[in-house]
Amino acid sequence: MRHIAIIGSGPAGYYTAEAAQKMWGEDVRVDIFDRLPVPYGLIRSGVAPDHQSIKAVSARYEKVALADNVRFVGNVTIGEDVSIEELQTLYDAVVLATGAPHDRTLGLPGEALGNVFGSAAFVGWYNGHPQFAGLDPDLSGSTAVVIGNGNVALDVARILAKTRAEFVGSDIVGHALNALDVSRITQIVVLGRRGPHQIAMTPKELGELAHLSRACPRINPADLPDEGEDMMLEPGQRKSVMLLRSFAAIPEAHRDDKPVDIDFDFFAAPRALIGEGAVTGIEVERTRLDGGRAVGTGETYVIPASLVVACIGYQTSPIPGVPFDESAGRFANDEGRIVRGLYCVGWARRGPSGTIGTNRPDGYAIVERIAEDLGASAGGGHPRRGRAGFDELAAARGLDVVTFRDWKKIEAAENLAAREGAPREKFVVVAAMIAARTDADLAADGAV
Ligand code: NAP
Repeated sequence: MRHIAIIGSGPAGYYTAEAAQKMWGEDVRVDIFDRLPVPYGLIRSGVAPDHQSIKAVSARYEKVALADNVRFVGNVTIGEDVSIEELQTLYDAVVLATGAPHDRTLGLPGEALGNVFGSAAFVGWYNGHPQFAGLDPDLSGSTAVVIGNGNVALDVARILAKTRAEFVGSDIVGHALNALDVSRITQIVVLGRRGPHQIAMTPKELGELAHLSRACPRINPADLPDEGEDMMLEPGQRKSVMLLRSFAAIPEAHRDDKPVDIDFDFFAAPRALIGEGAVTGIEVERTRLDGGRAVGTGETYVIPASLVVACIGYQTSPIPGVPFDESAGRFANDEGRIVRGLYCVGWARRGPSGTIGTNRPDGYAIVERIAEDLGASAGGGHPRRGRAGFDELAAARGLDVVTFRDWKKIEAAENLAAREGAPREKFVVVAAMIAARTDADLAADGAV
């Protein structure tokens, strides 16, 4: 029997569990730990609430979770409740699938001003992550500046631009929906330090900006390179740039019935956040490309800004005792192996890039690696106690472990609380998640 502990129940964690099931079938036991009482990580808290088709991949993870050889062990924080070393003594392999939940910082003056957020915090707010649910951004000003030219910047710009009606069918949390409903933002500036050919935005996501009911994208045609140069781009990138060209061709008259502008400001690198207490503007330096890199031209200007969201990438949280590559913001590893018996996968291995699906081959590759390392020793020589050993430890420490069955009770309560047309209304406080589980247990026992 192989005993595997996976830390993190997002896409990388579940694909790794799926791969372990395929590799060893009944000869493996997998425990998937999460610090939250609810599974699915980025699917629940990162993927945009109006992208339900992407979130639907959780049905595949549920299939994995419901098999007898895989367990969800929620509400347990590795590094606090249980150490990595303890897990290593209990399991044949420990896999860190902890993602990259922290914002990279801009490192600019004024970054600590009020109403300046990183995308992990801002996305976590509208997705109801307990850590960020109380963010309470002030949306009463007129201009939001979104820094970055990736898909997260697009998500944030789109969410800021949408009307209440456009959120029908989404699972945006009630507090964010109500705040956005009374937002006074009429200009959303998307700031890119490089140019249209260097965007990291995919066509489907970019195309959505052309179909918003009260907002319209605007691009300065002078920022676009000669059309002939598009031929040098990858097909997907070319498609995105063609969309930018179509935005640049939107006549001003078309905007008359669209009160919100989404202005792309290319070749514009942020230099400082300005304000007293709260942000009021952002100082930007014009750039030009030099060998693909943005270099400052010395020309600066200030964009008034009442809200700033920096969507410039994420980093993994270090875990005491686990080697960390500070400059890359992820665990130090050799193709997923940190040391024999300890591995990382997904964003924790390679940094925050790629789509949800990119984690699938990652998960399968790490299981191959584990299999090589375990080799003939699995089940022999030095048998590990796996889940039985963990359960003893959890009982001794009084940990309130949330199982997958418990999660289904929490999920049922979230589904029941959904506003009309929405799939669910998420609990945004851990205690409320736990209480929903307890209430369901009491109801099942006939106590209420
Ligand atoms: P990303 O794709 O790496 O984009 C980060 C952006 O921030 C880049 O435009 C980068 O510019 C810019 N940037 C970095 N540091 C900066 C600085 N100091 N000042 C100004 N700009 C800076 O990251 P992301 O948008 O966070 O997305 C993460 C991953 O999730 C990506 O793989 C993305 O495709 C994926 N994702 C997918 C979806 C979807 O498929 N629907 C949705 C959301 C996210 P440079 O290029 O100049 O470095």
